[in-house]
Amino acid sequence: MKFYNTLSRKTEDLVPLNDKKVTLYACGLTVYSQPHIGNWVAYIYWDLLVRTLRASGYEVEHVQNITDVGHLTSDEDAGEDKMLAGALKEGLTAWEVADKYIKIADDEAYGHLGLLRPTHMPRATAYIKQQIAFVSELEAKGFTYALKDGVYFDTSKLKDYGKLAKLDIEGLQFGARVADTGKKNPTDFAVWKFSLEGQKRDMEWESPWGPGFPGWHLECSVMARELLGDTIDIHTGGIDHIPVHHTNEIAQSEAVTDKPLANMWLHANHIKVDGKKMSKSLGNIYTLKDITEKDLMLRPSN
Ligand SMILES: [Zn+2]
Repeated sequence: MKFYNTLSRKTEDLVPLNDKKVTLYACGLTVYSQPHIGNWVAYIYWDLLVRTLRASGYEVEHVQNITDVGHLTSDEDAGEDKMLAGALKEGLTAWEVADKYIKIADDEAYGHLGLLRPTHMPRATAYIKQQIAFVSELEAKGFTYALKDGVYFDTSKLKDYGKLAKLDIEGLQFGARVADTGKKNPTDFAVWKFSLEGQKRDMEWESPWGPGFPGWHLECSVMARELLGDTIDIHTGGIDHIPVHHTNEIAQSEAVTDKPLANMWLHANHIKVDGKKMSKSLGNIYTLKDITEKDLMLRPSN
C-alpha cells in the first residue's frame, strides 16, 4: 500500500516494522472548547486509514491523544494557555473544562459520526511523570537549558532539526528577534513551563526544575514512545502541525532515542470556508450540530 510521505516528499510503500502490524499515532484534540467539523474531517481521514489498513489484512494499533493541559493559544511559547482561557470563560476549572469537552468530543466522534474507537486515547495529564522523566533524559544528554519561564530545547544541538518542514534554519536565525525571549535560537521551544511566581494554576505539577506544566509538543513524543515504542510506522496530524508541533516532536524524540520517531508522516489539509481556513480565531467554524440542524449535510443525489 502506497502513501505520500511528508518526510521524504515521495509516494512510498508502507513497510511496517512488525510484519502485518501497523503502529499509528494521530495528534488529537485540545479539549478546551466545542470541536468543529474541521477537527472531525481529520479524524475521519484517520478512521478511513485504519479501516483501509485493516481491510488489507493489517492489524492496527492506533493512538489518538487528548491534549488536556497547557497548550498555548499560539505555537510559540508565549501567550494564553488554551485550557485556562477556556476554563475562565466558562467559570470552570481547567480539569472541569477538559472533562466536559472530552465527553462532548467522545459522543460526537464515536456516537454521532460512528468512528472506530482508537486502541488508546491517552490524556496528557495521565503521563506527567513520564514527561518529566523524558525532560530529564534530554537534560542528561545536554539538549536543554533553563530560562526564567521554563526549560527549553536547544534546537542547534540536533544536526537535522526542521527536516520534516524543510525549515530554512539560517534564514530564521537571521530574521528572528531572539533577544526578546532570551532563547538561544528562534526555533528553540519549551519542554517544561514554570508556573508564574505567586500564581496557583489549576493544573501544575512539581518537577526537578520547579512547579509547572509540560510544553505542548512533549506529550506526543512521550505517549507515542510509552504506548508504541521508539519508532512508529505512521504518524498523522493536521498540515499546520508540520513546521512547529511535529518538527519539535521529532527533535525531542530523536534526541532521546537516536532513532526515527516515525517512518511515515501523513498530513490532513484544512477545511476551508469561503477560501479561508476554518478556525475559531476567524469565527468561521461550523460544528456537527450546526450542519445537522441546518441540514447542510451532503447526501448522494439519487
Ligand atoms: Zn502531537
